[in-house]
Amino acid sequence: MFSHEYTCDRCNLTATYVSTEIGYYRLADGTDIPRLSQPAWCNYCNALRSAERLPELERLQQILAEIESAGLSDGDYDFLESLQQSPESYLAERVSKWRASVRWRSQRQSPPRCLECESTDLELLAQEIDQSLESLPHPNCGGNFTRTNWWHCSQACYTVLDSEGRGIVGGPSAT
Ligand SMILES: [Zn+2]
Ligand SMILES: [Zn+2]
Repeated sequence: MFSHEYTCDRCNLTATYVSTEIGYYRLADGTDIPRLSQPAWCNYCNALRSAERLPELERLQQILAEIESAGLSDGDYDFLESLQQSPESYLAERVSKWRASVRWRSQRQSPPRCLECESTDLELLAQEIDQSLESLPHPNCGGNFTRTNWWHCSQACYTVLDSEGRGIVGGPSAT
């Protein structure tokens, strides 16, 4: 996980973006599926934030179809042997996770939310720039943020959201 610090060339404000920690969605049936994130300007926080990144439904369906038709690769078999897990149970687990992701994505109503305040009033910044966003406009200022510093931080925390992207009270240990 990385922290990136940006300074506005017009107003001199600094903004920090922390590429997020691992997170999960906990679905109504108790299944946990991974959550992706991306940088965004949150108009409610008025700050650079980490926001949810909702994958394309088509992409999830495509991956599920590939797993269902192709099954496991040689690499998977080697890996499973080392874990002493049966290929059948591993594959069934994987397929059911992807099915849960497809179901979640097709039912998801809310647009992406800010991971800080849960607002949906966001300017999403390109998804691939997670590690290398060099600059971004400073909304309502007219200036430009450019990256002035970045560092690695080892602090790891993890968050659990419900299927609509709202924080679950009680966190990861809640049942
Ligand atoms: Zn500015
Ligand atoms: Zn926010």
